[in-house]
Amino acid sequence: MSPLQITDPEIFSLIEQEKARQENRLELIASENFTSRAVMEAQGSILTNKYAEGYPGKRYYGGCANVDVVEDIARNRAKNLFNVEHVNVQPHSGTQANMSVYFTVMQPGDSYMGMDLAHGGHLSMGHPKNFSGKIYNVIPYSVRRSDHLIDYNQVRELAIKHRPKMIIVGASAYPRIIHYDIFSEIASEVGAVLMADIAHIAGLVVAGLHPSPAPYADFVTTTTHKTLRGPRGGIVMCKRQYGSALDSCIFPGMQGGPLMHVIAAKAVAFQEAGGKDFHDYQSRIVSNAKALAAELMNRGFSLVSGGTDNHLALVDLTPKGVTGAQAQEILEKAGITVNKNSIPFDPLPPGKASGIRIGTPAVTTRKMGASEMKTIAELIDRAIAGRHDENKLLQIKNQVQEICHKYPLYGKNGSVNE
Ligand SMILES: *Cc1c(COP(=O)(O)O)cnc(C)c1O
Repeated sequence: MSPLQITDPEIFSLIEQEKARQENRLELIASENFTSRAVMEAQGSILTNKYAEGYPGKRYYGGCANVDVVEDIARNRAKNLFNVEHVNVQPHSGTQANMSVYFTVMQPGDSYMGMDLAHGGHLSMGHPKNFSGKIYNVIPYSVRRSDHLIDYNQVRELAIKHRPKMIIVGASAYPRIIHYDIFSEIASEVGAVLMADIAHIAGLVVAGLHPSPAPYADFVTTTTHKTLRGPRGGIVMCKRQYGSALDSCIFPGMQGGPLMHVIAAKAVAFQEAGGKDFHDYQSRIVSNAKALAAELMNRGFSLVSGGTDNHLALVDLTPKGVTGAQAQEILEKAGITVNKNSIPFDPLPPGKASGIRIGTPAVTTRKMGASEMKTIAELIDRAIAGRHDENKLLQIKNQVQEICHKYPLYGKNGSVNE
């Protein structure tokens, strides 16, 4: 028996159940992924025991010789990977990474622009219950009704009208390429700081499959656990001139001790992302997303913006006569995990939503390819059409398990063991 099994059989058993869930279901949540054994080993290490408030060479505690090197390695690897001048690897999450930039750039009551949450923006870009919507004045910009692409003209008009301190470019549910050069022009026209949030697409940016904001943005934030496939956490990158202000906004500004075990795991993930297989992995994410999107459209599903350039697609379910919430529940019964998602100009409230968001980073980590994507689209279609027949849903669930067994995750030959 393992130490955990002896000390806390209840939690041990829940972890085992979760392992089985991850192994036997199709994970299509666009923000999720399966990190490697090496990343998990670093994250589960004794580094969790170390307090290291401060930064390498300037700590408030003794005994930091080893963790100093770990954090320096993490910072240098991130700098090289993203080609940026300054990096802070301490934010506990993507939202904290964003918070640290807001604290660096703005005072309470200042205005900033961010993508409308109903059009793909993230909670940390002005949700009324989030700090980002409570402390600051948010001016949301949106996508065009005609093609669901960011309305760059509207962004410019709003920027000229409101003169925000900062403009944020980045999203949680936007399936197309983002033009940082245009945002950069607009920001400099109105004297705003430009922040790019690449939480979802960081892996694609590293692989060169999506333009990098690094040459254009003053600050770039990202999570490390989405396409980047590292441990759960965030990082912030910026131009050299903002470096020391940013660092002191993170510590002592908004966090105490850094999670050194997570920072070690981030370093491992950056090493993997700089490795020879990463570009191939990211290209397969994109080709899988395109294959899945194409087959869904063949089957009469309507896709926001008519397709995808990246790792995700937003499916408008209106033509199929179900809401996003209903589809999420139906697919759950069929062994397929997705999240309901508002579509631009959604007539339904966010709790119901007209769409689902589907992403391919996790199934691509399992080595699934174009033919599985075609099958997955078929299974989604059959599940929604057969939603009133429990037998049909069960049959699909069995088929999902067959696919999962063919592409094991954690066992012998499992993809995360490589
Ligand atoms: C996921 C995400 C974040 C932050 O995520 P956390 O859950 O706080 O780690 C920030 N911005 C965008 C655009 C995201 O998609």
